[in-house]
This record gives sequence, structure tokens and C-alpha cells, in this order.
Amino acid sequence: MTIGVYPGSFDPFTVGHLDVLANAADLFDVVYVAVLHNSQKQPTFTKEERVQMIENVIRTEGLSNVRCGTFDGLLVNYAKAVGATHIVRGLRATSDFEYEFQIDAVNRHLSQELRTVYFMASPAHSFLSSSNVKEIGAWGGSIQGLVPQVNEDIISERLTRK
Ligand code: ADP
Repeated sequence: MTIGVYPGSFDPFTVGHLDVLANAADLFDVVYVAVLHNSQKQPTFTKEERVQMIENVIRTEGLSNVRCGTFDGLLVNYAKAVGATHIVRGLRATSDFEYEFQIDAVNRHLSQELRTVYFMASPAHSFLSSSNVKEIGAWGGSIQGLVPQVNEDIISERLTRK
């Protein structure tokens, strides 16, 4: 059985993330979405909220081979614990490449077996990031079409309340 892990902050999960996840769900028998703490980012949504929103997406999109969990610590340990052979990441621009290149080098150092596969962002989502969504939402702009519809109201409400 092929198992992939898609790690990220997902703060919040966007349609760009969904695009990558759907591709991964096609490629692997099982995909674990791992909501991880990124020490360089201060999250807006709690881990529980992020997991709940991803669970909503899994349910509404019918992604029956996708599971969602959280993990603190090294990704390679999480991947090993769930039996994954591959990490899944997305690439939007050359700036992502630089960052991903470094992370990949670290993960290769920590694990000889684990490899990372990358999906290019679809052109429609190449500008889209969780930060953009938060910026737009905080100023009362519409986030329709930027996040999965099932979570639109929860996210909008939370961002405008801040
Ligand atoms: P992290 O803090 O780990 O970078 P993110 O939630 O920002 O977590 O992103 C998780 C992964 O999804 C990263 O590989 C990122 O490049 C990718 N990603 C984010 N937004 C998009 C998008 N619009 N299209 C494709 N991939 C994306």
C-alpha cells in the first residue's frame, strides 16, 4: 500500500491546498494531511479548528482515502509512524522552491527512505496563500472561491471578528 503525508500549516486550508490534496489522493492509496506547527508562523486558527475544517473538506469532497491528524515535532517521525514512503508538497513560485529545497535536504538527512513529491500549483491558484486569505478576510473582502465553500463562513466570521 502506498501512503503519502501532506504536511502544512493550513492556516487556513485553501482551494490551492485542496488541489494538491486531490492530486495526492489520486496518486496514493492513503494520504495523511498532517497539521504541523511551523515555528516561523504564528497561527490564526487553532490546530483543532484547522483539523475540523480539513475534516469538513474531506467529507464534502468525498476523499475517502484521506485522513487528517496533527503532529508536533519532526515530520520524518510522523511519516514513519503512519508508514508513509512519501511526503507531498505544493510549489507555487520560485520562492517556494528555495524553501522546499532546504526542507528536502533536511528530511533526506533525517531519513534515507522518505522521498518528497511536488505538485505544481494550478495557474488559477498560483497566487493563493493562507496569508492572502487572512489579509483579504480581515479587511472584509470576499474569500469566496479561495477556500473550500464548506468553510467559507467559518473563516470569514473568524477573520472579521479579529
Ligand atoms: P507550510 O507552513 O508548511 O509552508 P502551508 O499551509 O503554507 O504550510 O503550505 C503547505 C503546502 O502547500 C506547501 O508545500 C505549499 O507550498 C503548498 N501550497 C500552499 N498554497 C498552495 C497553492 N495555492 N497551490 C499549490 N500548493 C500550495
